[in-house]
Amino acid sequence: TYATQYETSQMNGTTVKVPIGREVEGMNILGLVVFAIIFGVALRKLGPDGELLIRFFNSFNDATMVLVSWIMWYAPVGILFLVASKIVEMDDVGLLFASLGKYILCCLLGHAIHGLLVLPFIYFIFTRKNPYRFLWGIVTPLATAFGTSSSSATLPLMMKCVEENNGVAKHISRFILPIGATVNMDGAALFQCVAAVFIAQLNRQPLDFVKIITILVTATASSVGAAGIPAGGVLTLAIILEAVSLPVVDISLILAVDWLVDRSCTVLNVEGDALGAGLLQSYVDRTESRSQVPELVPVKSELPLSPTPAPTEEGNPLLIHYRGPIGDATTSEKESVM
Ligand code: ASP
Repeated sequence: TYATQYETSQMNGTTVKVPIGREVEGMNILGLVVFAIIFGVALRKLGPDGELLIRFFNSFNDATMVLVSWIMWYAPVGILFLVASKIVEMDDVGLLFASLGKYILCCLLGHAIHGLLVLPFIYFIFTRKNPYRFLWGIVTPLATAFGTSSSSATLPLMMKCVEENNGVAKHISRFILPIGATVNMDGAALFQCVAAVFIAQLNRQPLDFVKIITILVTATASSVGAAGIPAGGVLTLAIILEAVSLPVVDISLILAVDWLVDRSCTVLNVEGDALGAGLLQSYVDRTESRSQVPELVPVKSELPLSPTPAPTEEGNPLLIHYRGPIGDATTSEKESVM
């Protein structure tokens, strides 16, 4: 149910209805991610005692990846049946498209422009690499996102593909992608704005500048709060409608076509996460190659071969002094230049 609960309070003698938050059932992925990070830090602190558990989780993860690679072969057939079943369920597909066609078209077009032009352009600007080659590497998880309408369900496959096809390091993908699947939802933010404007037009309610900004800000926030599950974004759409005083009941219209819009929305949600991981990887590559320490070249010094005390580290910071065992008459002193 999408009915919002209210709390009435008195302000300056007038009664104000304030929407109140409530707990939504489902897996708390963000909580899991935070716990996993802290647990990982704790395991590292344990040192050798924690290694057993680290190895357990590593092999558990490898086994999951093997399962995912098997499932990948089944994905096209599965996606076909998932979409077909939705179309068969509908009474009159033609009528639905005739009445809500422009809304659907606007969402799909917006998702296409953002996913095929804006995001690749941002990736290109920062990395100077071909973004479409990157997208080609993750085409299977994108298709899975389209089929399942769930960022969370696409997560293991996305990790596998960005690591194996696009060369993103494990420590980057496994940190960025789970957080991205939970909080970074470009597609959801985009469709929520379109849905809010659509409902406003349907109710012949003009939207002034302040209301448009309110929609933008609340859509960004509510997309962060949306869960990576089918129709996760429709649930938080209620917050935006409340913020600009639009009827929440009209969400039922959006829900009627959400089986389609949610698919392209989820594709965009996961694409944004993957490109973010790729961007960070290329930044790390660049900083690592720039800060590479030149190899140490041992240089024989002209100093007398005597057991004189070694010069202190003060002086030229680029010189490191090596000394042999104390008392050794043949001790030679080397200086190396960094
Ligand atoms: N289904 C979307 C996802 O999993 C969330 C949404 O409904 O916008 O990313």
